This record gives sequence, structure tokens and C-alpha cells, in this order.
Amino acid sequence: NPTLDIAGLTKTYNTGLPNEVQVLQGASLRVQPGEIVALVAPSGAGKSTLLHIAGLLDTPDTGTVAIAGEDMTRLSDRRRTAVRRATVGFIYQFHHLLPEFTALENIVLPQLANGAGAQVAEARAMALLDRVGVADRASHRPAALSGGEQQRVAFCRALANEPSLLLADEPTGNLDPDTSDRVFDALMTLVRDTGLAAVIATHNLELAARMDRQVRMTGGVLESL
Ligand code: ADP
Ligand code: ADP
Repeated sequence: NPTLDIAGLTKTYNTGLPNEVQVLQGASLRVQPGEIVALVAPSGAGKSTLLHIAGLLDTPDTGTVAIAGEDMTRLSDRRRTAVRRATVGFIYQFHHLLPEFTALENIVLPQLANGAGAQVAEARAMALLDRVGVADRASHRPAALSGGEQQRVAFCRALANEPSLLLADEPTGNLDPDTSDRVFDALMTLVRDTGLAAVIATHNLELAARMDRQVRMTGGVLESL
């Protein structure tokens, strides 16, 4: 089964104004295990809406979202939330780390919430930090880290509970170009090592070209590039 199979998604935001915005107009995408797909879209095209629906944070008006072959649109909200926590990792343009906790703790906490023991969670957090080159920053709080380091920690947090699907919305969009390239390398290595299915939205066509395939969002649908 594909890890993610979204088909015929439509979504309209009811703004209360006469002309409603139909953001998705039949968007479809299939992502196989281990495949990294670049999602290229100008801002306002509906990429966040698409990623939120694919990641079970929002529901479409029509269409289906299947994860590992199971139709999520038929599940109760409660069940869908449980599947999301166990299956999907998110990365945003801004790291959203908890400021009062260290880098390590930011990666440990979601594991504890998911039922892991403290020792296992710490070992896993350290291993992840090591793989993205910031193990020496484990005991620092986010404010003491560079932008690039903060994003690396956010990648580790997204993968803390071993999701099968990673959704990233401009994961290096907040960094200067040099830092962005290096941090992006770290992300690609991490994703490849883990064998995750990933959808990574980016405006950067050079970064997009390094993924397995590219889809462009235009007019509320997705087309292969
Ligand atoms: P992108 O991530 O590509 O910039 P979004 O999915 O955030 O695009 O938004 C697509 C369109 O939908 C935009 O025109 C945006 O203003 C509109 N939109 C997004 N969220 C809402 C909302 N909650 N209510 C009304 N309109 C929204
Ligand atoms: P990266 O490429 O990971 O973003 P930088 O080249 O921006 O790293 O930063 C180099 C070093 O400077 C990093 O090891 C980081 O710890 C340190 N540093 C950067 N910004 C800050 C900051 N605001 N506070 C403390 N240290 C910082």
C-alpha cells in the first residue's frame, strides 16, 4: 500500500463573503514508502491546506485520504487523532520548540506522551540529534541555538515517535541560503536513513530537484513535473 493516498480532494473556506475560496479542486497524490516528494507551490496556492488534510489535522469537503491503505475520512475524529499521533510527523517553517525545555527534552517529551519509557526516549533523542549533527547542543534551550540548529532539533522531534509519513511545510524557508542548504542536507539524510515517505513543500527549485519527484500545485490540483 502507498503510505499516503489522497484522491479528489476539494476544500472551500467559507469566508462569509460572496466569493468563497475553493482552495482544493480535486487534488490527488500517492506517496510510496521511502519516497520523497517535493511539493512546489506559490504562496496562497493551498499547500498548507493540503498538508493539513494529508496529515489529518483538517478534513476535506470531498475526496479521500488513505494512510497505509486505510481510509481516514471514514474514521471518527478521535480515532483519526490517534492515527495522526502514531503515524504523521510535521515540520514547519518555524520550529515551534518549547522554549522552557532543552533540545533533548523537546524530543523526549512527545515520546513520553506516546508511552515510551524515559531511558528509551532519551537514547532515541540523542541518536536523532547525533544524526543531524547537533548532539553537542542537547542540553541547550532553543533560544541558545542558531536558526539552523533549532530546525535540526525540530526535525528530530518530528521523527521522535517513528512516524511513517513526514509532512514538511517550507522546512528551511526561514534560514539564509547557505544554512538552508546544509540543514536541508541533514533533513534528507535523516529521511533517507529512516525510510520514511515524505512530502516536503518548498519554493526552492534547487532543493525540489533533489527529491525523488516533484509535483506542482496549481488551480487547486496537483500535477507531476
Ligand atoms: P499556502 O500554504 O499555499 O500559502 P493556504 O493553504 O494557507 O496556502 O491558503 C490557501 C488559500 O486559502 C489562501 O487564499 C488563504 O487565504 C485561504 N485560507 C486558508 N485558511 C483559511 C481559513 N481558515 N479561512 C479562510 N480562508 C483561508
Ligand atoms: P547553523 O548553520 O547550524 O545555523 P550557524 O552557522 O548559524 O549554525 O551558527 C554557528 C554557531 O553559532 C552555532 O554552533 C550556534 O550554536 C552559534 N549560535 C548562532 N546563533 C546563536 C545564538 N543566537 N545564541 C547562541 N549561539 C548561537
